Amino acid sequence: MTSFFRAEVDAMTGYIPGEQPKSDSKIIKLNSNENPYPPSPKVKDVLQNFDWEWLRRYPDASATDFRNAISEVLNVPTDWIIVGNGSDEVLNLVIRACTNSQSKVVYPMPTYILYRTLVEMQPAQKVEIDYPEDYKLPIDELVKVDGAVTFIATPNSPSGHIVPVEDLRELATRLSGVLVIDEAYVDFASSDALSVVKFDNVISIRTLSKGYSLAGIRLGFGIANPKLLQGLYKVKDSYNIDAIACAIGAAAMRDQDYKNSCAEKIKISRVKLSEDLRKIGFKVWDSQTNFLLVQPPQGNAEYLYLRLKEQGILIRYFQQEGLEDKLRITVGTDEENQVLVEALIGLYPSPYQGEGKG
Ligand SMILES: *Cc1c(COP(=O)(O)O)cnc(C)c1O
Repeated sequence: MTSFFRAEVDAMTGYIPGEQPKSDSKIIKLNSNENPYPPSPKVKDVLQNFDWEWLRRYPDASATDFRNAISEVLNVPTDWIIVGNGSDEVLNLVIRACTNSQSKVVYPMPTYILYRTLVEMQPAQKVEIDYPEDYKLPIDELVKVDGAVTFIATPNSPSGHIVPVEDLRELATRLSGVLVIDEAYVDFASSDALSVVKFDNVISIRTLSKGYSLAGIRLGFGIANPKLLQGLYKVKDSYNIDAIACAIGAAAMRDQDYKNSCAEKIKISRVKLSEDLRKIGFKVWDSQTNFLLVQPPQGNAEYLYLRLKEQGILIRYFQQEGLEDKLRITVGTDEENQVLVEALIGLYPSPYQGEGKG
């Protein structure tokens, strides 16, 4: 049968997002790493006071107010910032601006699987390199490929580990292509990689979806030298950030205290949830994010995922090599995490049942 699509599009699977239940349902949603707390009250003020008549105008194409707010908070010049409709858009801009059919796009696995989707839709070649068991960055292997674009998520999903900044610096100096440092979970981590953007070939990418509880408004941004941003600006949709999102982003960014206080709560809950899961026999990887990668005692990850779903608790199961026996669980509120832990205890016959209670 003839197809209307490019060969690359016919061949690709497409990204499968975490399930989104209807907003009125009582589901406990721990599958997409959303923040369990509402956005800053300053965001509510913006929405309540937004002058609706202004919507007849096109928005500011470079989202100046939002970029100024980022600049103030992170202490980087405004012309080092590009904003996207979610950080996913910025990731896509890099691939679209920097690759052709001969280009290689490289990333260590397992990682954010959207990278695969973004490469597959372009005429570019993907090169996936396995992380070793201890998640040490395979620098030599990545350098050997020397892709037009190299993606490193740090902290990484679904492993939750952070890549040491020295490793990123070494990678930046040894690569001739662009190094994308995806810092989606930086708000929950003990350190960041912002200092690495001083290298000409490096862009750090951030999002307001996780730390700022704004997944629904779609805001992300990239930080890099203006020369690197120039090409990204050319391929960006002119009005990728709408006027409401721009105002919300600026307000949320300027309310660091609120964001940090939510992140602190989540980090405390992360410790408690890790301990509770270990008590019932789970292997839990150390996490610098708002989620945990876990391995159930009998490796029956898919079974647990399905049983929890029946009980209205959504967690993430990846049908992906190396992850079949693992689950990714977003850290919710303490109440949500408690419901999850009790449901898991209920799914296990003794000896797990009694453990940890004494
Ligand atoms: C959630 C996530 C993103 C996407 O963020 P958006 O800004 O919502 O598009 C990017 N990278 C990683 C690793 C993520 O987990």
